[in-house]
Amino acid sequence: MPLFEYAPAPESRSIVDIKPSYGLFIGGEFVDPADGAAMKSVNPASEEVLAEVAEAGESDVDRAVAAARRAYETTWGPMPGRERAKYLYRIARIIQERSRELAVLESLDNGKPIRESRDVDVPLVAAHFFYYAGWADKLTHAGFGPDPRPVGVAGQVIPWNFPLLMLAWKIAPALACGNTVVLKPAETTPLTALVFAEICQQADLPPGVVNIVTGAGATGAAVVNHPDVDKVAFTGSTEVGRAIARAVAGTRKRVTLELGGKAANIVFDDAAIDQAVEGIVNGIFFNQGHVCCAGSRLLVQESVYDELLASLKRRMARLRVGDPLDKNTDIGAINSSAQLDRIRTLSEIGSQEGAEAWSPPCELPDRGFWFAPTIFTGVTQAHRIAREEIFGPVLSVLTFRTPEEAVAKANNTPYGLSAGVWTEKGSRILATADKLRAGVVWANTFNKFDPASPFGGYKESGYGREGGRHGLEAYLVH
Ligand code: NDP
Repeated sequence: MPLFEYAPAPESRSIVDIKPSYGLFIGGEFVDPADGAAMKSVNPASEEVLAEVAEAGESDVDRAVAAARRAYETTWGPMPGRERAKYLYRIARIIQERSRELAVLESLDNGKPIRESRDVDVPLVAAHFFYYAGWADKLTHAGFGPDPRPVGVAGQVIPWNFPLLMLAWKIAPALACGNTVVLKPAETTPLTALVFAEICQQADLPPGVVNIVTGAGATGAAVVNHPDVDKVAFTGSTEVGRAIARAVAGTRKRVTLELGGKAANIVFDDAAIDQAVEGIVNGIFFNQGHVCCAGSRLLVQESVYDELLASLKRRMARLRVGDPLDKNTDIGAINSSAQLDRIRTLSEIGSQEGAEAWSPPCELPDRGFWFAPTIFTGVTQAHRIAREEIFGPVLSVLTFRTPEEAVAKANNTPYGLSAGVWTEKGSRILATADKLRAGVVWANTFNKFDPASPFGGYKESGYGREGGRHGLEAYLVH
């Protein structure tokens, strides 16, 4: 039967009203940065400049922390949990009301397919605010002592791969527990955080409870190093995580770090192959592989290797790469030219080290930052593409013979954020999961998230947990 062609199905961007320039959100208002510095946010699918965004310097961060401190002491800290909950519910509902706008803007600024921002990111963002709104008046029952108190002012730094979702993971639990926040979005994806600032205004959130300071790494460092910040929460690279851990060592600041990963996705020979292939594709090509818990190392039992690889290649040949705003797109744009360079460099190293690259035939757009979905076979554990986080649509395929070998190879990494197990046997799922040194282990599925379940790493993937009841702990003194 001939294949049907897909007609273009672009989502309209008219719902988004991007302003030519944005200030910093401090004390409930948009204000200009002290020295007037600005940077540009670019659509990675077209290289079009979307907006100019203020770049906060140290004195701006100082203003933001002072606003957060004032709000903490005068309004938000003393407010009963049941009142705080009302604001969080209101924010959650406004996010739902403005969900299409947020999804389109996220896809424009980040490059991820609209199908993902619309069906995954934004619904999860609203779900996080609903979930933590529910905790705000029940903190005495959360298992952290009879009278848990907020920590104070939280300084939060987030990456570009899930801009609005990482904001929700950071802000929702902090506010539910009575803390105020200063958040720095990533340099390449600040726009949905700025719409979130508008949502805070729309929800009548008291001024200073949420402050958004846009900027680059130096702004993040100013937030982390500010002496009046009580708690630091960071998601991003292990390298910057290390620098932050060093910066706060010896201070009274609390810190949680959610860093990189190199997850093993283990397929045993009794697994349902078609289902496993869907999980492998979702595990590494979801969000262009810009996922800290991506299943970037596929471990296949040798006896099903040929069958699985043939099936995986067939499936990959059906992936549609292109316009993130097209509702049929599976793989969007790489977030920045710097990230594209990194993916290219590591892939070239993979080939030089002797692994074999394969991509389905696919036409990449002329403008913007693109990388075809790629698998590397013949990968050994010593290869850099098996050890380092590529953070792109690149899968390293390795094989194993026995369950013991699978576990040993899966754990042979400095990271420990997530893993996947594919098998028909429940006992094998439990036995394998028990031995994997990873914060999350998915069984016969991958990349599933829920606000009620905790998320976080072992080893160099960081420390602390976000999400669920566990996610409250970092924001409470008990
Ligand atoms: P970073 O870790 O540099 O970025 C994460 C956040 O930290 C951004 O908001 C960044 O600002 C900020 N930041 C940078 N330097 C500092 C600092 N010294 N102090 C405080 N905050 C700082 O990641 P990159 O964007 O540079 O990506 C590099 C690699 O990191 C990727 O290729 C990927 O492998 C990995 N990565 C992993 C993520 C994960 O969730 N595991 C997420 C993002 C990246 P700014 O964006 O303005 O530089």
